[in-house]
Amino acid sequence: MLPLSVCRAFSHSAQILGASILPHHHVLNIQKSGSSYHIETSNGEFEAKHVVIANGVWGSAFFHSLGLGESLVPVKGECISVRNDHMPLKHTLFHEHSYILPRKGRLVIGATMVENDWSETPALGGIQKLIMKAKSMLPGVEDMKLESCWAGLRPQTFDRKPFIGRHPEQEQVFFAAGHFRNGILLAPATAAMIRDLILGRRVRSDWAEAFKVDRRAPEHVRR
Ligand SMILES: Cc1cc2nc3c(=O)[nH]c(=O)nc-3n(C[C@H](O)[C@H](O)[C@H](O)COP(=O)(O)OP(=O)(O)OC[C@H]3O[C@@H](n4cnc5c(N)ncnc54)[C@H](O)[C@@H]3O)c2cc1C
Repeated sequence: MLPLSVCRAFSHSAQILGASILPHHHVLNIQKSGSSYHIETSNGEFEAKHVVIANGVWGSAFFHSLGLGESLVPVKGECISVRNDHMPLKHTLFHEHSYILPRKGRLVIGATMVENDWSETPALGGIQKLIMKAKSMLPGVEDMKLESCWAGLRPQTFDRKPFIGRHPEQEQVFFAAGHFRNGILLAPATAAMIRDLILGRRVRSDWAEAFKVDRRAPEHVRR
């Protein structure tokens, strides 16, 4: 299923289960206030008993403001989509980091890996690399018509494993960030783990250890 459809389905299901989703509320500040947290946004202020920081590569600011040292680094990925009226491709082609995905009436060609680029706009150089690579994998793409192109930022941690867990000193604050290339795939497991932590249920100890938010980067990779 397409990532966009998955996100829409998650959002729809969450609302059926009672969640409120407030678009265009940019969180500016999170501050402890008595036994809860005061959340200041671009569109109003809120009180919360529990806070889950899950804002991708932009999460670094909250790691720092909540006293944790680690940073997330963007790895930009660019993709293109072309119309495909005649190529009977049934399976994904994958080579090194590149892939060609068959979709209904089109092919999706991805994806570049550009470290430390915060721009969410595709660059011509990235698109050119994708086209060259796609032509070497499937020469017939040359005649296909360009449909669209886009870019996103993969949130990368120092060891490429996500941070999923409780703040070491603030027990109502949780992090779910840094999923790098697998944030869609890992969304259900991440959500289940955060839910269990909030509800005080047991979580797998090997997962808790692997993803804990205060694991430290070795000195030579600390940014
Ligand atoms: C080209 C490409 C292909 C990919 N393919 C796959 C794949 O096939 N499978 C897979 O599992 N993963 C894939 N990924 C990786 C996946 O997209 C990421 O791992 C995932 O999006 C991370 O999810 P996230 O919710 O942590 O962060 P994001 O998706 O970046 O979402 C963070 C959200 O928080 C919002 N935000 C930021 N700051 C604030 C703030 N202060 N207040 C309120 N909101 C804020 C942002 O606007 C954004 O909407 C791909 C990534 C790219 C770029």
